[in-house]
Amino acid sequence: MTIHYVVLDDDPFSVKLMRRQLSALGIMEVQSFHEAIPAMEYLATRPTQGIVLICDLQMPGIDGVELLRHLATIQFAGALILVSGEDQRIIEAAQSLADAHGLNIRAALRKPVSSDQLKQLVESDLTEARPETSSFAMPSYSADSIRKAIEQQQFVLHYQPKVDMMSGKLSGVEALVRWQHPTDGLILPERFISVAEEAGLIERLTRSVIAGPWGALQQAHKWINAGLDIQIAFNVSMDDLVQYEFPEFVVESALNHGVPLAKLLVEVTESRLMVEPLIAIDVLTRLRLRRISLAIDDFGTGHSSLAQLCSIPFDELKIDRQFVHGASSNKTHRVVTSASSQIAAQLGMKTVAEGIETREDWDFARVCGCTYAQGFFVGKPMPAEGLRSWMEHWQEARQALHLPA
Ligand code: C2E
Ligand code: MG
Ligand code: MG
Repeated sequence: MTIHYVVLDDDPFSVKLMRRQLSALGIMEVQSFHEAIPAMEYLATRPTQGIVLICDLQMPGIDGVELLRHLATIQFAGALILVSGEDQRIIEAAQSLADAHGLNIRAALRKPVSSDQLKQLVESDLTEARPETSSFAMPSYSADSIRKAIEQQQFVLHYQPKVDMMSGKLSGVEALVRWQHPTDGLILPERFISVAEEAGLIERLTRSVIAGPWGALQQAHKWINAGLDIQIAFNVSMDDLVQYEFPEFVVESALNHGVPLAKLLVEVTESRLMVEPLIAIDVLTRLRLRRISLAIDDFGTGHSSLAQLCSIPFDELKIDRQFVHGASSNKTHRVVTSASSQIAAQLGMKTVAEGIETREDWDFARVCGCTYAQGFFVGKPMPAEGLRSWMEHWQEARQALHLPA
């Protein structure tokens, strides 16, 4: 694919400088705009796949936030490099917003952009697909096809390990649902969970995730029988928590499978928590009364106040991976991670650092006092059969971390 550069900046001097820097890197063909509207029209009328858009966040007439919204509307499929003279926190906020819009954002840089920064970006493959593919590139499935897949039991669970940061010991696994699609391969939840929620199918899916023939409880039973002392976590949606009988369903299913309730952990995503707070608090509290553990997931991405957080007896707080991964090089993220971990400790909760991808992430989360780590650095989600060999591998990896045996 040929890469095509577009520069958008209201400051003629910045455009000139950028052109010169690009041409020093051998990139001569650059389309530039001083205003957003013509740039948007230009982008809206052609395929955007191979385009690298380098754009200023602050322009007269349209601000960077509106611009990101426009790019999302025209389903801009190219790569985006944001530049701005604004302070680092504004740039980071814009970056998060671009991410939330599913845009392929490659960098958010402060002006003036150095030639080295630009060189690095140009040399990395700018058109390569994002690891977490955006919702544009990967459309969701229809409610009908998901309904059929539930009936035909086409879902499977993968399990991601969670380890204690002091000892490195495996403390539990999180069950993550995947759709084993007959023709499309293994499909990740981002492409079917929200459709299932909107179509009223999520309760059936959750119930199979927990108690189905391929579900978490039958696997938990096998592991416990094999002498593995771990907790099994599963994710629930808000729609599950507004069912008053949900706790009874979980308790009965666990008893039927011979799994002690203390071995279960229910994860609730923070942003979904507060839609129906009263019923959710009722249901969650009754789960907790039965000794099932509760975790608040993706902490930092929702809107719950501390008061709401305190009104539910959570055992664990999972700090969202957007704050954990790369925290050592981002001040705002560092502050969020370390403050979240302190709040949790003060409230008597344990913390899980999600998205530990590198040794730096690990070291930083450990310094912050996070109790558990989860992320690709420790282990990716895997089929249940993979856990034993992961454990052997982790045993070796642990040694490099100089943790007690
Ligand atoms: P989550 O519960 O926050 O799960 C963590 C997600 O982050 C998983 O994505 C996992 O693969 C990914 N992840 C873990 N470590 C890393 C890392 O180091 N780097 C990166 N980049 N990613 C990491 P997955 O499996 O695609 O699941 C996405 C979300 O879908 C889950 O987020 C959860 O909210 C939802 N989900 C998964 N299974 C179920 C389910 O059975 N029911 C419901 N209602 N939601 C589910
Ligand atoms: Mg989770
Ligand atoms: Mg999470």
